[in-house]
Amino acid sequence: MPSSSANASFLSRSLSAVWHPCTQMKHHEQLPLIPIARGEGAWLHDMDGRRYLDGISSWWVNLFGHANPRIGNAIKAQLDTLEHVMLAGFTHEPVVELSERLAALTGHHLGHAFYASDGASATEIALKMSVHYWRNHGQPGKNRFVSLDGSYHGETVGALAVTDVAIFRDAYAPLVRGSTSVASPDARLAAPGESAADVARRAAAALEAHLSAHAEETAALIVEPLVQGASGMVMYDPEYLRLARALCDRYRVHLVADEIAVGCGRSGSFFACEQAGIQPDFLLLSKGISGGYLPLSIVLTTDEVFAAFYDDDTARGFLHSHSYTGNPLACRAALATLDIFEQDDVITTNRHKAARLGAAFGATVGGHPSVRHLRQRGMILAFDVADAPAGFSRRFFAEALERELLLRPIGNTVYTMPPYILDDGEIDWLAARCGEALEASLG
Ligand SMILES: *Cc1c(COP(=O)(O)O)cnc(C)c1O
Repeated sequence: MPSSSANASFLSRSLSAVWHPCTQMKHHEQLPLIPIARGEGAWLHDMDGRRYLDGISSWWVNLFGHANPRIGNAIKAQLDTLEHVMLAGFTHEPVVELSERLAALTGHHLGHAFYASDGASATEIALKMSVHYWRNHGQPGKNRFVSLDGSYHGETVGALAVTDVAIFRDAYAPLVRGSTSVASPDARLAAPGESAADVARRAAAALEAHLSAHAEETAALIVEPLVQGASGMVMYDPEYLRLARALCDRYRVHLVADEIAVGCGRSGSFFACEQAGIQPDFLLLSKGISGGYLPLSIVLTTDEVFAAFYDDDTARGFLHSHSYTGNPLACRAALATLDIFEQDDVITTNRHKAARLGAAFGATVGGHPSVRHLRQRGMILAFDVADAPAGFSRRFFAEALERELLLRPIGNTVYTMPPYILDDGEIDWLAARCGEALEASLG
């Protein structure tokens, strides 16, 4: 990628002053940083005048494109009214309206919303609330967690306890509390003749074996419903969620649905849990809920959980807080996002887009001899690359950028999770360029 000398000096300023996330900084000796000047719709424009289709929604957060005027105008109006106020002892219009609308989206099953600023904090909050619930109910021994093999629930120290991705976790092992991971219902594990639902039943049997022995010390099971994102878009049958819900009821263990990635329509329904017809005890949202505009995360929970904390005794309350809890600008962005879902009937129109996405990738990479397990759930599509050369993911990333496409494989899994605003032509273009980048990075 050619860059002008003015930009070369800008990049070296960034590399010396900014410590970039999820990055071995030394890799940037070879791989150039991309200086983004502006975004518009599905496109990012860099300082050299090149453009990139944002095929992963800027780390899964963007739903309706960059510089979306409907979300932007809502934030601007809020900016002139109230930018922030502490939420302890105070309240405001956007946080009340957002909490009510989210409760309605759960059929009022999850009628209480607790706020934070990023996904990992939402995980921490749900884990703390679950343990504190059992303590308030006289069962302080219920303080362990179960998660799935390959789970990802964030990277703060508490969230790492339920995150099973070695590269994020190993260096911090002495800090992280032990927890149990049980078999993932990963549909790719199907033996010949087995369906995805069969794999789900097998995995649920493993969960039951664990709970039947450890229910007394287990507070909660935490899952990413239908798609385990960070471990490589692992997809599974909704049957697992139905069985897990029933087991959590039988063994008196909370079910935490981490919908930080799969919520807000990604999976094809607004909440992924809807496809299993179940309700969790805690539901976590972040990423797309603000349209990809501002950091916001939310823990939704039930009357039952809320009631366990409601008392004259301060210490029985949930005393957790973050400075920006319930930030009005972020809540306003989320309300504008929910408005778009309603006004544009997004869940319905996405059905067509998802079908087009599946057909387009089927045509460009479906028959490729190295492609395995081409899979899709709503607006998430992924495939694995067999016999990929060493360094495949960084090579593919660079080859895609050469073709004006932002895709960032996880290991040997290539995936797209685009904004919901692509038209048919852009979807076909995305699939075609992805096929070309695949060819180039294998050659
Ligand atoms: C991204 C993600 C998180 C963590 O969110 P952050 O905002 O990055 O802390 C947690 N759970 C899932 C399923 C995620 O995809």
